[in-house]
Formats: sequence, C-alpha cells, structure tokens
Amino acid sequence: MMREFEGKDGVMMIGGKSAVEIAEEFGTPVYVTDEQRLRDNYRRIYGAFSRYMDTKIHYACKANTNLAILKVLEQEGSGIDAVSIGEVKSCLKVGYTPDRIMYTGVNVSDAELKAVSDLGVMINLDSVSEMERLADIAPGSDVSFRVTPGVGSGHSAKVITGSKGAKFGIPLDEVINTYARAKDLGFNIKGIHAHIGSGGQVVEPFMDMMEVLIELVNEIKAIGIDLEFIDMGGGIGVPYKPQEEEMEVGELAMNITDMIQEETDIKTLILEPGRYIVCDTTVLLTRVNDVKDAGTKKYVGCDAGFNTLIRPAMYDSYHYVALANKFGRACTDKYDVVGPICESGDYLAHDRVLPDPREGDIVAVYNAGAYGFSMSSNYNSRPLCAEVLVNDGKAELIREAETEEEQWRHQIIPERLLR
Ligand SMILES: *Cc1c(COP(=O)(O)O)cnc(C)c1O
Repeated sequence: MMREFEGKDGVMMIGGKSAVEIAEEFGTPVYVTDEQRLRDNYRRIYGAFSRYMDTKIHYACKANTNLAILKVLEQEGSGIDAVSIGEVKSCLKVGYTPDRIMYTGVNVSDAELKAVSDLGVMINLDSVSEMERLADIAPGSDVSFRVTPGVGSGHSAKVITGSKGAKFGIPLDEVINTYARAKDLGFNIKGIHAHIGSGGQVVEPFMDMMEVLIELVNEIKAIGIDLEFIDMGGGIGVPYKPQEEEMEVGELAMNITDMIQEETDIKTLILEPGRYIVCDTTVLLTRVNDVKDAGTKKYVGCDAGFNTLIRPAMYDSYHYVALANKFGRACTDKYDVVGPICESGDYLAHDRVLPDPREGDIVAVYNAGAYGFSMSSNYNSRPLCAEVLVNDGKAELIREAETEEEQWRHQIIPERLLR
C-alpha cells in the first residue's frame, strides 16, 4: 500500500513535525524528506536480499542526489550506482570511497571515462566502442558489462531500458564475443549487469532477466572467465496510489537468490534501487495561490509546477495529493492541481477530490523523493526550491532555495551589446 502519513489536529505530520510549520518556516515549494524512512527503506531492501546471499546495494543516486541524503545512505553502508562524473564526485565528496561506487554511463566521452577511471571508480561498460576506448585510456582496469537482456519493465515507455534494440547495453548476441574481446584486451572482468527499466510493479520481468543473465554467466564461464558478481540493476516499483499493492520484495529476493545459487558459482549479488529507497521518504509541499472555477473544471493553482516536479507532465505519473492543513477532512469537489508554468501541460494532479481548497492552503504531493528535485528546472526563470530533512520532530535545511539573481550567474552579455 502507498505510504500514508499521520495527522495531528487536522495537520499532516512528517517525521514528527507539522507540514504546515515546515512550509511556514522554510517557504514553498519545498521538498521534505523523512530521514528515518530513508534509513528504514535501505535496511528493508538490504535485509531482504542479504539474508540469502552476499548482497551489495548500490543506491541509484540519480533518483535524488542531495548531499545530505547521500550522506545518510553512506552512513547506512550503501554503495552507489552513478551515471555521470558529477554524481561520482558528489558521492566522493560526502565520504563514499571509490570502491563503493560503480559507474554506468551511456554514450560516454573519453574525457569522462578517463576522469572516472582516474578517481578509482569501476566502470560498467555499455558498448563495444566504450570498451575499446577504455582499453587505451585505462588498460587492465576492473570492468563489468551492461547487457541488453531483451526484457523490459517500467511505469512508462520512456523509462523501459532493457528491451531488445534499446540504446543501453551490449546486444544479447554480441555478449560472449565482447567478453572474449575484453579478456584479450587484458581487462580484469568482474561481473555482468542489466537494468530492465524503472518503476515496474511485478516480479516476473526480474526473473526473466535473471534467467538471461544466468545463462550468460555460464556461457562466459565456458570461455574461461569466472565472474564475481551479477548486478540486477534497479527498477523496483513503489505504490503511488492509495490502494495499490507493493511489490513483494521478500519473494523477489528469495526467487532471485535461489536461481543464482542453484545455477551459478556467483558469490555476490548487486542491486541498484533508486526509487525504492527514496520515493516515499519525501513530500513536496506547495502553497495554493489561486482557486478558479473554469466552468467545466475547477483548478487549484499552486506555486509548484513541472519546473519543480516534472513527473506528471513528463510521464503522466500519478502522485497522490492532500491538503496538509485540512488533513483528513471530508472532500467537497473535484479539482485539477496545477502550477505556475505557462503551458497547459503543467499539472501535478488531475480530477482529485479535495476538502474545500482555498488560497493559502498547503498541498502535499506524496512520493516526491525519487526523480523529484533531481529533475527540476529553472523553466520560466523560477528558482530551484529548498529541501528540508526531518528527523525526530526536527527540520533542517539541506538545500537553500535559489534566488532569482543566481540564475544570471553563468550568463554573459557580450560587451558590444552594452555599448
Ligand atoms: C536509473 C537506474 C537505476 C535505478 O532505477 P530505479 O527505478 O530508480 O530503481 C538503476 N540502475 C541503472 C543503471 C539506472 O540507470
């Protein structure tokens, strides 16, 4: 079931603190993360798999790269799945050692390959081209390969990554030749990786992918390469709707580890959950500026739009919404919850019943911790918003809101235009 929050005297509580007080203290829009939930999510997923075999969780940090959140997970013992040099550097900055980070880029430049490799971070290769280039840049280094398993899964066609013909990974029929070539090139080959997509809600595609990986592991062994790990990628979905079932992570863990242990000599399983770890830790609080009855529709106009949370506009994603200051009150009518961006595609939620929304109310957008702030933008010259971490009833700023002036920081008006 979707994560619900407690109410106290008609006010939504997050991590023991009133959402309304947070909105007043830090301004809106603001992303609010519950630290204890973050720790619990990490422990739950690690515990589910590690009871069966040696497991490493590589948090897919593109879901949420706030340094404080990275630090909490560092304390928990997490590893990192990084997709860019920027992510690698952020993680090193907060104390992850290079051996806890794996880099899985796509269409990577030579300069970035060199930079990542110079930092001592292992590269998970996405293509034959990348392998040949790395052979010149960092001969003999530790590598693994991302393969295209021919199995896809995800909440939207835009985030399915594992299907045949995808832009990601080594195509299935080239995998064995590629491992053989990597051996000839003198790489130290550690493992095999696949990532089927993001936000899948069922266990079966993971099992299908694992079948493919296991067959490959054994074919690779037959050409004299013993792999240490299988990396099953991320993609474990989270319920966004109130009655939605959650994925049976315990069942997934049991089945996956069973298959690996019965059919291979692989000792270590890596998984790369992003959404699962951060999604339900965070709500986006946004203030109602305007309420409009447009005849055929009623609108609740907020100070956060797709500049702040792009998932509804980009993927048609569902995010549950509630009024934090009228929490649990009877609903009166149906509304579209929309933002300040000048496009009709700018919405947070369609056709939701809400308890008499008025100007000044605080809308809480649930499940905003994954691909929320990290995908936000300055569109319409709106500054990036603040982020807050709540722990034990105390709220702390973990990112200041940007100022309007800061958006000019890197822009240059050529002198000649000022003459
Ligand atoms: C995005 C990504 C993930 C995480 O996906 P989630 O759906 O957030 O779990 C894991 N691995 C790779 C390589 C990715 O690109």
